[in-house]
Amino acid sequence: MHFVVAGAAGFVGSHLCERLLADGHTVLGVDNFITGAERNLAHLRGNVRFSFQEHDVCRPLTVDEPVDVVLNLASPASPKDYFEYPLETLDVGSNGTRNLLELARAHGARSLLASTSECYGDPDVHPQREDYWGNVNPVGPRSCYDEAKRFAEAVTMAYHRKYGMTTQIARIFNTYGPRMKLDDGRVVPNLIGQALKGQPLTVYGDGSQTRSFCYVSDLVDGLIRLSLSGEPYPVNLGNPHEMTVLEFAEAVRAATGSQSAVEFKPLPTDDPRRRRPDITKAQRLLGWSPAVPFAEGLERTIAHIRGQHAVGV
Ligand code: NAD
Ligand code: UDP
Repeated sequence: MHFVVAGAAGFVGSHLCERLLADGHTVLGVDNFITGAERNLAHLRGNVRFSFQEHDVCRPLTVDEPVDVVLNLASPASPKDYFEYPLETLDVGSNGTRNLLELARAHGARSLLASTSECYGDPDVHPQREDYWGNVNPVGPRSCYDEAKRFAEAVTMAYHRKYGMTTQIARIFNTYGPRMKLDDGRVVPNLIGQALKGQPLTVYGDGSQTRSFCYVSDLVDGLIRLSLSGEPYPVNLGNPHEMTVLEFAEAVRAATGSQSAVEFKPLPTDDPRRRRPDITKAQRLLGWSPAVPFAEGLERTIAHIRGQHAVGV
């Protein structure tokens, strides 16, 4: 099949391209490098089934080759990135999503939106099911991302309803693995980087807030399965293995053999208190469950970051 991957040069997008090519598909990657990096795609450049367009999807795009599936991952994703690019984040969630839906419509293609567990905000339902409408602060610092994704979901549903398009919405929970940006401020690269450098591990608040971390190859598998499904309503993709941030810091310390102490820092505004996906729907509809145990995913991620440090990235 012919896939277009918007946001191809990012963390998840680059793994997605790699897996699609390994499965024998043709991939056109699109990215404007606002938060992605050329080096994430360097190893794919020699593949004859891979091509790339540097393009900001906030501007309309046309593709001359056939397109069967459009996968929309284009958006700043880490809090640090969307705090730096709030307007670009709102723009890509709205105009960018619409342009990619138009691309899919022009080709009679399927279209999947990479949405987020942030649609649930600071949730008062736990674990989060897809039918929970969320608790989002529409004017807080995270709103540029949360509301962009909520709009993106709404515009996707409007295209589905108005034009009968085959669309999907993945609500992605915290994902980790090799090729996360070392300086994107997320807890996984921050704490691993600090542990490897012998620096204090920065834990925000008292560290009792929870997250559930999904290894990137599991997420990619779920995204592909969902993109080929007929389910238009949101589907959670994440690993239900929940832990506190403090437990995560301890796991990093143990896995790296680091002696670093924990340093407590202020909790950012509107930081969600807890997050765990209910994945019953993905299990039932897609036959999908995460397969990579946390300890193994953490080892692989640490090995990658160690390698990056060794070459001075
Ligand atoms: P990332 O920042 O590594 O990748 C996003 C990519 O999109 C980057 O390469 C960036 O340059 C590109 N991009 C942004 N705006 C663009 C535009 N206007 N035109 C073209 N390209 C553009 O982030 P990621 O972690 O790989 O996330 C990928 C997607 O998954 C995002 O949509 C994100 O919201 C979603 N998501 C990720 C997570 C996670 O834990 N990583 C969780 C929930 C949702
Ligand atoms: N966090 C932390 N130390 C850090 C970075 C993040 O304690 O150096 C916390 C953050 O406050 C949040 C959790 O870790 O509670 C996950 O943050 P991240 O930015 O990775 O993703 P989020 O789930 O907030 O989008």
